[in-house]
Amino acid sequence: MRDERNAEADVENSIAENLRHVRERINAACERAGRDPKDVSLIAVSKTKPFSDVMAAHKAGSTQFGENYVQELMDKIEELSKSGETESVKWHMIGHLQKNKVKYLIGHTALIHSVDSIALAEQIEKEASKKNEVMRVLLEVNIAKEESKWGFDRDSVEEACKEIMSFSHVKVLGLMTSAPYTEDPETNRLFFRELNALAHELYDKKLIVDSDPDFNVPVLSMGMTGDFEVAVEEGATMVRVGTAIFGKRNYAN
Ligand SMILES: *Cc1c(COP(=O)(O)O)cnc(C)c1O
Repeated sequence: MRDERNAEADVENSIAENLRHVRERINAACERAGRDPKDVSLIAVSKTKPFSDVMAAHKAGSTQFGENYVQELMDKIEELSKSGETESVKWHMIGHLQKNKVKYLIGHTALIHSVDSIALAEQIEKEASKKNEVMRVLLEVNIAKEESKWGFDRDSVEEACKEIMSFSHVKVLGLMTSAPYTEDPETNRLFFRELNALAHELYDKKLIVDSDPDFNVPVLSMGMTGDFEVAVEEGATMVRVGTAIFGKRNYAN
């Protein structure tokens, strides 16, 4: 029992320490780029990690969490409601989303980052309208044109924005991308710069909402453990960091 308690405390301490370090690195990147750290939100990506890790990060100051799988997200939301902390946390859906799962997210998720087709946006419109909610979303862009990645082609994003503009229960706040996995974050700098330019172009054309009470628009969700500092230097307003906070994921269990 005593050992178990110690092990839990160790995990809690290491998550708090990791978070502190990630925040320092974000602040340093902001400083290099002449940006205000308040303009960069840290989304703690807790996928595959137990709810106790979410609570440890929450205790250390995290208020925004990202998940990839709908069932896991719903389970964690349920656990959070038992702890009475629902109001203090924003959940982000960041993984590829199947149309038949959309209904579960409406009303529980602050932002869906992974809208990668018009058909998915239509489904969100349909389900949000049933619940009389407006769902805020980002369009995912496959900026490096990787075969294996979801997302709109760079050249089809503007058309998609125009079409979604006509929906009354879906609001596009900005763009999201997952840059290629790399050992050298510098190789992703131009992808981040391109996404930033594209988001501002759409914003200037009024194809992205002009303001939002909770998020700075246009939202630019880019940067993960391997490349978040470069993403911040290139204008990210949200970074999605998992491994650097919670440690390596073990998909085997
Ligand atoms: C898993 C995941 C992350 C976090 O990745 P890390 O490399 O662990 O920081 C961010 N964004 C998306 C879309 C993910 O699937």
